[in-house]
Amino acid sequence: KYILGIETSCDETAAAIVENGKDIISNVVASQIDSHKRFGGVVPEVASRHHVEQITVVLEEAFEQANMTWEKIDAIAVTEGPGLVGALLVGVNAGKALAFAKQKPLIGVHHIAGHIYANRFEREFEFPLLALIVSGGHTELVLMNGHGSYELVGETRDDAAGEAYDKVARMLELPYPGGPQIDQLAAEGEESIDFPKAWLENDSFDFSFSGLKSSVINTIHNASQRGESLSKEDIAASFQSSVVDVLTTKTWKAAQKYGAQQVIVAGGVAANQGLRKALAAKFGDTNIPLLIPSLNLCTDNAAMIAAAGFITYKQGKRSGWDLNANPSLMLN
Ligand code: ATP
Ligand code: MG
Ligand code: FE
Repeated sequence: KYILGIETSCDETAAAIVENGKDIISNVVASQIDSHKRFGGVVPEVASRHHVEQITVVLEEAFEQANMTWEKIDAIAVTEGPGLVGALLVGVNAGKALAFAKQKPLIGVHHIAGHIYANRFEREFEFPLLALIVSGGHTELVLMNGHGSYELVGETRDDAAGEAYDKVARMLELPYPGGPQIDQLAAEGEESIDFPKAWLENDSFDFSFSGLKSSVINTIHNASQRGESLSKEDIAASFQSSVVDVLTTKTWKAAQKYGAQQVIVAGGVAANQGLRKALAAKFGDTNIPLLIPSLNLCTDNAAMIAAAGFITYKQGKRSGWDLNANPSLMLN
């Protein structure tokens, strides 16, 4: 079965064609990073306008790359939420219009389900499966007992991991998006600064990054008061080590507790080299397989939306013409 995926939840306009939820036939992503860079973050109005300009181009390119025509498409999967409402609306309306015109089934997809299903390009899922979701807007541990079943095990009580990366990057005067920049600097620095790690209650799988973020601000501020300047590389390395240690340890503990047959990592921060290394080390000498998407499938794309949509399609679920953008859509 061939699913056309459409993704416009934030600042990438994307379309992809995926076969049986695990083979990428084409995958087109138009990033708006350059337009948002000078504002230091995503500007919703600018994002919507870019999606409107790009959506048709990106869709045509997806068919061209795949060398396919509409007849072969079995269904259209589109991100319905969460995300920026004005951005989501562009994809949802494109998906609805095309489903109507081409008479194809329409499937609304949760953006985070998409991030999770980016791992199915790596390997078939085995349940129970524990997913560590680390993106720009989400940081959670989700237990899956089957396809499309999501049970929240823990979540951030304040900032998302990607948000913490982007905020710390801004303090270090690095360009947006800051995650990849910090990742690079961290590789060159020493973990010489002792930043806090939020373990929270003993049995909690929740996360918290706001204390760490404040500690980084204070450290930079205090140093400059003393007329010193700290190495950005060392700050990045120390910050990253705090984030990665908590994420890795809690994922490990949850995997034990819930008897996970697989652990998967999802979302933009899954591209982080420090996190990939630490998780690989932790799970490497155990019998729990660890799945992490290839780098280009960690951040937003439409192949992952088509992959998640394929599962929904196989389960016989369809969206109606009342499908709407839902900026606060829940995963379950
Ligand atoms: P959500 O998926 O929660 O709706 P989003 O779609 O904006 O949010 P993603 O596109 O999944 O988020 O991920 C973007 C985030 O990932 C940004 O915060 C970015 O800084 C972070 N990120 C990307 N690459 C890296 C990296 N190598 N190291 C750390 N963070 C990274
Ligand atoms: Mg993005
Ligand atoms: Fe995302």
